[in-house]
Amino acid sequence: MSFPRTYELLINGAGVPGAAYFDVINPATEESIGRAPEATRAQLDEAVAAARKAFPAWKATPVSERQAKLTAMADLITAHIDELKQLLTAEQGKTLADAEGDILGGVSSCRQYAILAPPIEVHEDSPRRRSATYRVPLGVVCAIAPWNYPISIAMWKLAPSLVAGNCVVLKPSPFTPLTTLRIAELVRDLFPQGVLNVLSGGDALGPWMTSHPGFDKVSFTGSTATGRRVMASAAPTLKRLTLELGGNDAAIVLPGIDIQRTAEQVFRAAFNNSGQSCVATKRVYVHTGIYERFSAALVELGKRAKIGDGSQQGTDYGPIQNRQQYERVKELIADCRAKGYRFLLGENTKMPAKGYFIPLTIIDNPPEDSRIVREEQFGPVLPLLRFEDIEEAVRKANDTDYGLGGSVWGPPEQAEAIALRLDTGMVWVNEYGAMATGQPFGGRKQSGIGVENGMAGLLEFTGVHTVVTAKKIGAT
Ligand code: NAD
Repeated sequence: MSFPRTYELLINGAGVPGAAYFDVINPATEESIGRAPEATRAQLDEAVAAARKAFPAWKATPVSERQAKLTAMADLITAHIDELKQLLTAEQGKTLADAEGDILGGVSSCRQYAILAPPIEVHEDSPRRRSATYRVPLGVVCAIAPWNYPISIAMWKLAPSLVAGNCVVLKPSPFTPLTTLRIAELVRDLFPQGVLNVLSGGDALGPWMTSHPGFDKVSFTGSTATGRRVMASAAPTLKRLTLELGGNDAAIVLPGIDIQRTAEQVFRAAFNNSGQSCVATKRVYVHTGIYERFSAALVELGKRAKIGDGSQQGTDYGPIQNRQQYERVKELIADCRAKGYRFLLGENTKMPAKGYFIPLTIIDNPPEDSRIVREEQFGPVLPLLRFEDIEEAVRKANDTDYGLGGSVWGPPEQAEAIALRLDTGMVWVNEYGAMATGQPFGGRKQSGIGVENGMAGLLEFTGVHTVVTAKKIGAT
């Protein structure tokens, strides 16, 4: 499939050319698939001014009308799913099935918020007085997305922002801007001018945005290192913040499980999207009594997995999304090799000459203080770690500055008791990644501040507005 060569910014309801353009690279071929506009600082000012201008009317629009726009947006994206998933695979690298999953995840976010509205909480309604807290929009939201799930994550920000009555300026990652820009083009006529703006750009654009005084709120998903910078730059004007950051999720595997079935699920949890998920399983603690059998089952699965161009039928795992991350993952693997750690999988697997491909790799029981255990690898390299007693496994799982997700695999009561002791925002027991409607998604410790999804995610885009009314004039 061929795609347009150049894309437009969305500012004040119109497609706008960039002053300059940058190439977007297909990570499977290392070739350009299109050129994204590079927004200037003046264009950012224009987008923010348009959003500020649109805000009073959008805020006053009945919530049912705002919800209807989200349904229309979901319908339009769904109607273009074939085109969009091809484009997303070409720029992101993931398989077509995963690209469809990412886009439909965004669609389901729109549908979820199309039936949610900011609540009114009545504290007192007596003959004497009424006290009620309303949830009002904050103003203009700066939404910044990463490259691993470009569409789901963007929609986790857009949909609740818009339904709450905010206007938005969205910035996709410079590595994966095209599908977002194409969606902006598809949906731009749905919204009044200025309500939704989409800007792509280079490395300067994010910092310009987070420090821009015209924003009231920053909703950011990305690495913990960048999250710290975002928090600092939001401080001068005390912007509200939601930060969804990195993780180093542990899986704890207990005796008494079905080894094959659990291995299949843990394998997917670790290697899905080639390990480039914030809640990917990034360390696996396996009880010593089942360590050999469990690791053998993982290795067998790894030998059968097909790595390749995500657009090709039969591919299970695509490339690393960009060269920078590819080099980082290769460096972590080189560190494992240099330290003499044993590779259970991936050491001599040949990869295509072109493209940012890394073999699925499993490292056998590296030391607890090794880089591959301590750092977020964000790639298909998994340390398998042996433990003897549960206290030790819980202590090691919690011994990290991250606190995003985790999983426990074992007899349900015992596993759930352990899950309750993990210092993370989310833990799955005997399954991985399930998201019930309304379930909040977010991390503790340095994995973030605030949550997304569901009512809790909607409230992040509102401020409290409490009105206390004495019912009789002059009442005391
Ligand atoms: P990143 O931090 O490099 O970039 C994220 C976004 O921030 C991009 O759009 C980038 O252009 C922008 N950006 C970069 N520097 C900025 C700055 N100083 N100010 C403002 N914006 C800036 O992250 P990434 O490499 O795109 O994504 C991978 C990371 O994201 C991983 O650590 C992963 O765990 C994390 N992540 C977290 C979640 C979650 O929900 N917790 C979800 C997905 C990814």
